[in-house]
Amino acid sequence: MNLTLHLTENCNMDCAYCVHEKKEVRMTEAVVDAAVDLAFSTGKTAGLCFFGGEPLLESGLIYRAIRRCMLKTIETGKPALYKMTTNGTLLTERFLENAHAVRMGIGLSFEGIAQDACRRFKDGSGSFSTVEEKAKMLLKSMPDSYAMMTIAPQALPQYAESVKYLRALGFHRITSTIAYGKRVHWTDADLELLKAQMQEIGEFYEAEFLRGKPFFFSPFDSKIRDFIRGFNPSERCHLGFRQMPVAPDGSLYACTQFIGDQDYKLGDVFRGIDRERQQQLAMRAATPESCKECALRTRCTNSCGCMNRLETGNENNVSPLQCNYERMTIAMADEIADRLFAADEDAFRKRFAADVPEKNA
Ligand code: SF4
Ligand code: SF4
Repeated sequence: MNLTLHLTENCNMDCAYCVHEKKEVRMTEAVVDAAVDLAFSTGKTAGLCFFGGEPLLESGLIYRAIRRCMLKTIETGKPALYKMTTNGTLLTERFLENAHAVRMGIGLSFEGIAQDACRRFKDGSGSFSTVEEKAKMLLKSMPDSYAMMTIAPQALPQYAESVKYLRALGFHRITSTIAYGKRVHWTDADLELLKAQMQEIGEFYEAEFLRGKPFFFSPFDSKIRDFIRGFNPSERCHLGFRQMPVAPDGSLYACTQFIGDQDYKLGDVFRGIDRERQQQLAMRAATPESCKECALRTRCTNSCGCMNRLETGNENNVSPLQCNYERMTIAMADEIADRLFAADEDAFRKRFAADVPEKNA
């Protein structure tokens, strides 16, 4: 099974949109060991995602988890799969050597030249030059790593240039989402600017594709692939099923956003998962009332309980901001897909439909 280990509630940064309350709370060794055992308890693989706060503040716990996983793999024959989401500021050559050896997938939170608009150290200083250097180090040893962008209104004027910068730096996988939550305030003018920036990114994305250098940009790639597949894997909320977060004290929750809320607690790493509670929560997940008649509902992430709760306080209510963003990305992705298909059908099929049955492609 797949677990996300919140190794610490602390972080060395203070990003303007961060939804995590920083505390001097770390996971204990006993919780790490029990979490590893739980990850190996069901399924064909054991998946661990190292998360925080900033997980590299607790790199010792990461090494401990990996060592225990190796022993469990010998014992059970199951492989372990590792991921980490990090702000990158504490990456070292030594860590990357170890990460490379166990094929850890690393997502670097990095907003390119827009970085300092929101992503600052605790003392208020910018993090761009530090993370740029670490990004180069990361790409040298693990070129398939992701750059992960979270775009808040402050970063919008540099959004498109930042995507181009990350691409030039060497990232060929870029995930991006807009920032949500109480610390972020979107105006109509911001949404207009977002649209203009995404159009510029779309032109760049198409140009790269047509010169034989396609790159993954999640807002477009996910919508194009979901259309070809005929469904959106995120269409139904997977609260507590696909990837279960483990809080520093070992409690299991349905989703990262629900950590600390007893209503969404699903057991702990020592006693295991409360399956009855998990089923009850799954039955609560429903298509938002406002989306039931929408033609886009099978391509929209309207049922992400985590995001809905962050924005509206209710896991089954979608916010106007998210609805607006979903409509915008779907429309742009469709226009891009039409043009790319017309320009080079073979390359389009190879790029987007490789994993899709021929009859749907
Ligand atoms: S690096 Fe992540 S955890 Fe730390 S302040 Fe920024 S968003 Fe929050
Ligand atoms: S586009 Fe808006 S109304 Fe349609 S399914 Fe998505 S969130 Fe709901």
